[in-house]
Amino acid sequence: MRTLALACFALASTAILLPGQRQTENVLLVTLDGLRWQDVFGGADNRMMNVKDGGVKDLLATRKRFTRGDKLKSREVLMPFLWQVIAKQGQVFGDPASNAKANIVNTMKFSYPGYSELICGVVDETIQSNNKLPNPNVNVLEYLNSLQPYRGKVATFASWDVHEHIVNKARSGIMCEVAWQPITVATSIQRKIELQQMVDLLPRYWDNSVCFDALTFHRAKEYLMVNKPRVLYVALGETDEWAHARRYDLYLQMAQRNDTMVRELWQWMQQDPQYKDKTTLVLTVDHGRGRTPRDWIDHGKNVAGAEEIWMAVMGPDTEALGIRKDVHATQSMIASTVAAVLGEDFQKRVANAAPPLPGVTR
Ligand SMILES: [Zn+2]
Repeated sequence: MRTLALACFALASTAILLPGQRQTENVLLVTLDGLRWQDVFGGADNRMMNVKDGGVKDLLATRKRFTRGDKLKSREVLMPFLWQVIAKQGQVFGDPASNAKANIVNTMKFSYPGYSELICGVVDETIQSNNKLPNPNVNVLEYLNSLQPYRGKVATFASWDVHEHIVNKARSGIMCEVAWQPITVATSIQRKIELQQMVDLLPRYWDNSVCFDALTFHRAKEYLMVNKPRVLYVALGETDEWAHARRYDLYLQMAQRNDTMVRELWQWMQQDPQYKDKTTLVLTVDHGRGRTPRDWIDHGKNVAGAEEIWMAVMGPDTEALGIRKDVHATQSMIASTVAAVLGEDFQKRVANAAPPLPGVTR
């Protein structure tokens, strides 16, 4: 019924629906650091289900949890929200089997250049490290925050502390909290105390630079419930950490848990009048990783395949096309996509930014 109603609406209104008349009023952008398209489209990879290449501790339990008879079932177990909801109601890019590769344009193939490309829509060849330098490029979050309807309603929460510099918090003026920074917003004083205790009591496993995604998720969700941002960017980071540590078991666990986090944010939004049927979700990664059982842990300039990524979009202005076929997408298209679903034009501000993902808005 819903599909039929939407289809009729689309038919009746394609000709007169101008960009400024989108149904989308809010955007949820989520990134999962370095989660490979191979695992997303194919589920847990048997070649890494071992100690030598995957560093898997409990082989039986890990197989039982993630391995199914075929790839379609395995991927649904790994990321049920992506495959049962987003892929059915939205669009997924980056499946080479569908002649639909998605690539990063920058040649660095690591995080800062990747995140910068995806929020700024351009490749800046001067960004050649993950150092905490302020990003000189205007990003789409900053652009939206400069427009009256979104001013003060754009927020970023990230597990990795460098994100503060990638979004250039100082210049862009957007709300941004990262890694182990103090909890400032919660739905109650008690909740704030509890979350702060987690910040204080959890081990600093990756020093101060990366926190556990559970913290970032809860911090973001509390802020969402209290301040209701129109543009919320949640950058999760653990998949990359466990991959670099050659822990395929924990990498899979976090892919699955990240999928749960996205589902929870989405479901909360769908019961709130500000967000319900007026929110678009954009889900993607900053880079891919190696293709082989030896180098799946790695990415960077010299790792073949680390330029291959994936992205997914779901929302009221996006046709339910599922896995996109015969289309080429780039990471740089994300910035303009975030603006376009809201009926805004990022290229007005950054003329050389890549256009939105093809066919994502009606
Ligand atoms: Zn990364």
